[in-house]
Amino acid sequence: GFIAEDDPEDTKKPRPPVVTVMGHVDHGKTSLLDALRATDVVAGEAGGITQHIGAYQVNLKSGEKITFLDTPGHAAFSAMRARGAQATDIVILVVAADDGVMPQTVEAIKHAKASGAPIIVAVNKMDKPDANPNKVLQDLLQHEIVVEQMSGDVQAIEVSALKKTGLDNLTEAITLQAELLELKANPDRPGDGVVVESQVEQGRGSVATVLVKRGTLKRGDIVVAGAQWGRVRALIDERGQQLKEIGPSQPAEILGLDGAPEPGELFAVVENEARAREIADYRQRQKRQAATGSGGGASLEQMMARLQQSEQQEIHVVIKADVQGSAEAIAQSLEKLGNEEVHARAIHAAPGGVNESDVMLAKASKAPVIAFNVRANKQARELAEAEGVEIRYYSIIYNVLDDIKAALEGMLSPEQRETFIGYAEILEVFNITKVGKVAGCRVTEGVVKRGSGVRLLRDDTVIHEGKLKTLKRFKDEVPEVRAGTECGMAFESYEDIQKGDLIECFEITEVERKL
Ligand code: GDP
Repeated sequence: GFIAEDDPEDTKKPRPPVVTVMGHVDHGKTSLLDALRATDVVAGEAGGITQHIGAYQVNLKSGEKITFLDTPGHAAFSAMRARGAQATDIVILVVAADDGVMPQTVEAIKHAKASGAPIIVAVNKMDKPDANPNKVLQDLLQHEIVVEQMSGDVQAIEVSALKKTGLDNLTEAITLQAELLELKANPDRPGDGVVVESQVEQGRGSVATVLVKRGTLKRGDIVVAGAQWGRVRALIDERGQQLKEIGPSQPAEILGLDGAPEPGELFAVVENEARAREIADYRQRQKRQAATGSGGGASLEQMMARLQQSEQQEIHVVIKADVQGSAEAIAQSLEKLGNEEVHARAIHAAPGGVNESDVMLAKASKAPVIAFNVRANKQARELAEAEGVEIRYYSIIYNVLDDIKAALEGMLSPEQRETFIGYAEILEVFNITKVGKVAGCRVTEGVVKRGSGVRLLRDDTVIHEGKLKTLKRFKDEVPEVRAGTECGMAFESYEDIQKGDLIECFEITEVERKL
């Protein structure tokens, strides 16, 4: 594929940490980010921040750097994870010292824990007369965040974003945590990474904020970002400065894409325009299919199929219920359902209606949402539809448990497995009137069968997946063709074929699973 294997250890160099700030509304996320940004030691020379950008780097006195992601809300955080981007290394959990742990603080903890990123607590608003940091730490204990002050391993730092106190301690805590994580990436390779945000602006075209995860992204590079592609016309930082290139953990706006990729989609440099177009076209088609077809959702059935592929024998669910008591009761009962091989776990169980944050958490964790005596709001319903997340409504606990039990047992029933049956190479492409393009092929391995699934590979990248329309030996339609034999093939509703393309044939078979 075009996102290659991980780089060898000796090619990697230390990279700055990427940090996301989360917390309850009004606890000071924005103020804290602004205050941290103002600590930048080189900001003075180049002028301040001139524009909003979804990610920026702060240069510390020590010479170290921290990259902050300024993504709006917890749902956005999990949306990025759901699309495959583990962009955040460290989560800063902001809790106002005069208010303590609130519902969205709890939500942020769930999202952070599900991502696996370590948490640093910023106890904010310490300047307030009614600040009570001890109560904050006590509250956090209830949610399994054990701070160092209580012999745990989570750093908690007292700050005031307003009075700008404690900020050095906070950045020190971040660099300390970053050291423990040993963050490294190879800078000497074509760049790839994640899209943080994007929009199409009048006069500038597509403007995408990207964050490089590894390698170097240069002006003039050809990139694919999600289902979009283009030549990087300009790289611009948060001060409006033009850059020639950016390396690991460095964010910038890029101009030149042919559209706006979605937050969390991955980007990568590719070798030429033809390749970029092929990959982007394929992804556009996949997206259209997903939009009209069944989607990539998380129903109990799909979840089981995924689990079997990943060999992770745990199914996850998000539970929302009318009262705390029923949420907990469901969570506890379902954890007792499994056996040694498979079990279920509630990654989030809370009272209240289903909101967008629940849906994105479910999406990121490949889980369905169980709604017990509650309903999803309109935004959550639309989001669930768009993201393919299943919301299951219940009013009897027994029915919830019954369904989960069936799902767990289903995990041991026949598994659908894809088997490769053969490969063929396109030797020549013929344009035949009334039939369209036909590939003259040689079967190089195994057998190619009429009716089997086929994938078209160009330079190891899938550019089409579908079915065979025809399989011919000379003039005759045949059921199968074996290795070493030449044949003619045409695909159902697909014609962009070239000499040198490889055709992979596969069959879906059911395999009996044994305990
Ligand atoms: P957000 O919703 O989490 O982004 O919170 P904001 O940064 O918008 O802050 C909410 C309110 O709290 C604003 O009125 C801020 O001025 C105030 N605030 C933020 N940090 C502090 C602080 O350290 N001390 C005090 N006294 N007020 C603060």
